[in-house]
Amino acid sequence: MERQKRYFLSEDEIPRQWYNIQADMVNKPMPPIHPATRQPLKPEDLYPIFAKELCHQELDQEHAWIDIPEPVREMYKYYRSTPLVRAYGLEEALGTPAHIYFKNESVSPVGSHKLNSALAQAFYCKQEGVTNVTTETGAGQWGAALSYAAKVFGIESAVYQVKISYEQKPYRRSIMQTFGAQVTPSPSMSTRAGKDILTKYPNHQGSLGTAISEAIELAMNTPGCKYTLGSVLSHVTLHQTIIGLEAEKQMAMAGEYPDIVIACFGGGSNFGGIAFPFMRLNILEGKTTEFIAAEPASCPKLTRGRFQYDFGDEAGYTPLLPMYTLGHNFRPANIHAGGLRYHGAGVIVSQLIKDGMMRGVDIPQLETFEAGTLFARVEGIIPAPESCHAIAVTIREALKCKETGEKKTILFNLSGHGLIDMTAYDQYLAGNLINYEVTDADVERNLADVDNLQ
Ligand SMILES: *Cc1c(COP(=O)(O)O)cnc(C)c1O
Repeated sequence: MERQKRYFLSEDEIPRQWYNIQADMVNKPMPPIHPATRQPLKPEDLYPIFAKELCHQELDQEHAWIDIPEPVREMYKYYRSTPLVRAYGLEEALGTPAHIYFKNESVSPVGSHKLNSALAQAFYCKQEGVTNVTTETGAGQWGAALSYAAKVFGIESAVYQVKISYEQKPYRRSIMQTFGAQVTPSPSMSTRAGKDILTKYPNHQGSLGTAISEAIELAMNTPGCKYTLGSVLSHVTLHQTIIGLEAEKQMAMAGEYPDIVIACFGGGSNFGGIAFPFMRLNILEGKTTEFIAAEPASCPKLTRGRFQYDFGDEAGYTPLLPMYTLGHNFRPANIHAGGLRYHGAGVIVSQLIKDGMMRGVDIPQLETFEAGTLFARVEGIIPAPESCHAIAVTIREALKCKETGEKKTILFNLSGHGLIDMTAYDQYLAGNLINYEVTDADVERNLADVDNLQ
């Protein structure tokens, strides 16, 4: 009996363009707002922070297809196409009539999908004469990807890593340093944003929102330095559509088309990356694929957040973004899926949820590790704690098919491997992991702050 079947594309079949869903959306995302002028943001407003090309990609609602620069596509060939895998082992273990496929982004040199955008961002920076890039990282996956991409294109990188991860995940810090990055635990005394927070809360363990503030401040105060972001923004998701565009061709090789597409959700880049190319066919050709974003129950912005203008970072340096949010001061519990501990969703996904084009599902931590452990045992890949959320939703959907006898085709994105997250698995196996719930009162209290921004 077949255990696993893998589909690859030839170098020539690797896509030459990314897909910009904004051009095809019936209701366009509402505009980001400049916090000082209160006017809709123009690309030029973002020039001090990001490479220019990225500022234009961010707000482009016109062009559906954006060329992948040749040097970026050359680097993609190091690890792309990534395999599309038929998960016979998981199907058998669940006894489901569903056909389960996953796109394996864990084969990238840094172990996650993040490199797809890091290479693009580092390339545009280099092309525009930027010498230094800065960013924040939580669990360290984005920092690792940017550190490597910066090295590839010959620029220096400085990474603010959320302090608790810096201390708890020393190997990701070592990876960034091995690629040549300068890594600083955040909050730090090196920026005003960091100092302000440490003065108020001397034991602050850090958060992505704070680390973003520090990195943006460094970029704005340093000549030749730009900021980069690994999720949330529309240009990041644009670069990730390479995942879904490849998957579309690979599913055709398998002679199937997905009824359900699933990915875990932090800021939305791997979700949009696999989902948007398929959603394009819902919009343009009337296909009826369902799209499900899997978020942690401890940080449930899609299922329990509110659609509002809010800042992307704690200090309020970013534009105001129209998004589902738990409030920019929200402090998520310290779950192991560090990449999903973010208070808001990107503007595209937020509009798509409002329009009923997709939905979110929130999953408690224990269920995610139960799913990830089963997946490891039957497919031989230890998934990242973030990816375990997508697997948990896939299992729920496959078990529904078992009850109803429906033979649905399910595709999920394996956003990364968990080989540097074994402490989390250790705790799970020892029975020491717990679930964190957010109360309605917590959500309301945080959103009260956001109300003042409207
Ligand atoms: C960063 C990360 C995520 C979450 O980010 P998105 O932008 O929502 O995709 C998910 N999985 C892995 C492995 C990550 O590194």
